[in-house]
Amino acid sequence: MRLILVGPPGAGKGTQAQFLSAHYSIPHISTGDIFRANLKAGTELGNQAKAFMDRGELVPDSVTNDMVKDRLTHDDVANGFLLDGYPRNVAQAEVLRAFLAEAKTPLQAALELAIASDEIIKRLSSRRTCRGCGASNEAGATNCASCNGNDLYQREDDKEEVIARRLEVYEEQTAPIISFYRSEGLLITIPAVGTVAEITEHAITALGRL
Ligand code: AMP
Repeated sequence: MRLILVGPPGAGKGTQAQFLSAHYSIPHISTGDIFRANLKAGTELGNQAKAFMDRGELVPDSVTNDMVKDRLTHDDVANGFLLDGYPRNVAQAEVLRAFLAEAKTPLQAALELAIASDEIIKRLSSRRTCRGCGASNEAGATNCASCNGNDLYQREDDKEEVIARRLEVYEEQTAPIISFYRSEGLLITIPAVGTVAEITEHAITALGRL
C-alpha cells in the first residue's frame, strides 16, 4: 500500500498513521517527525528547518523534497509506505508524483481526514506530545497513551500564535493538493470525527475498496 494522509494540522494524521502503518505493515514516514528528530539531534538539517518550524511556515521545498526522496529509497518501503505531512503543497505533490513514476511505484491513495476548523484549534491547543515516541496526547495526561513515557510537552508550534499561522499556511498552500489528488483520481475523504478507533476502522474500510 502506497498512501499519503492529507488534512489540516490537528486532524489526527499522526495518530491515524500509527495505526494504519501497523495494520498494513508499512513504514509511517512523517516529515514533521523527521524534522523534529533532526532538531533534537542538532543536525544541519535540523538547523535549516528550525526557524521555519518555529514560525509555523513550511521548510523550503528543496530541503524537504530531498529528505523525502532519500527516505523513500530505504529498504523498508519495499511493501509501500504511509506519508504523513508530505506533500504540503502542489509543487511537492508534483515532485513526489515524478519520483514515484520513475520508480514505477505510483501512489494508490490520498486519504483526506476532514475536520471543521473550530475543532482543529481546540485539538491543537490541548495537544501534548510525547518526547519519547512523538505520539499526541490530551492536555492533563501524565503518561503517554502510546508508550507510557512521562515526558509530555507542548510543541512550540502548538502555541496559539503559531497555530493561527499554520492554519493560514494550510489553507493557502496545502489545501490545493486536495484538488490535485481529486483530479488524479486518488482522493478518498473520510470525516475525522469519532473515537480514534472508529476513524481507523472507517479509513480501513474506505481503503479496502481500492
Ligand atoms: P507537522 O508535524 O507535520 O505538523 O510538521 C511540523 C512542521 O514541520 C511544519 O509546520 C513545517 O514547518 C515542517 N514541515 C513538515 N512537513 C513539511 C513539508 N512537507 N514541507 C515543508 N515543511 C514541513
